[in-house]
Amino acid sequence: MRCDGCGASAPALKTVRCREDRERRGALCGPCWEPLRELVWIIVGPVAAWGTCRACGEWVSVNDLRDAKPGGRRSAPSGTCVDCR
Ligand SMILES: [Zn+2]
Ligand SMILES: [Zn+2]
Repeated sequence: MRCDGCGASAPALKTVRCREDRERRGALCGPCWEPLRELVWIIVGPVAAWGTCRACGEWVSVNDLRDAKPGGRRSAPSGTCVDCR
């Protein structure tokens, strides 16, 4: 993985989501995350476990997606979320 803040490579980085703009997600190393901790949420679990709903565009857990297929936004799986069923 690569840190979106400083570009450093690391085997494990915090995956974060911006609180203001839920579409903004990224990976940050410890020193880069520290000053932003009030602005972002840490997303638990691997990025691959997240996908987008084709109907409403929300990021949801792949477990909550029906018909999840690879190749959605930012290479994440896309499907139909529980709310849009
Ligand atoms: Zn960094
Ligand atoms: Zn939806």
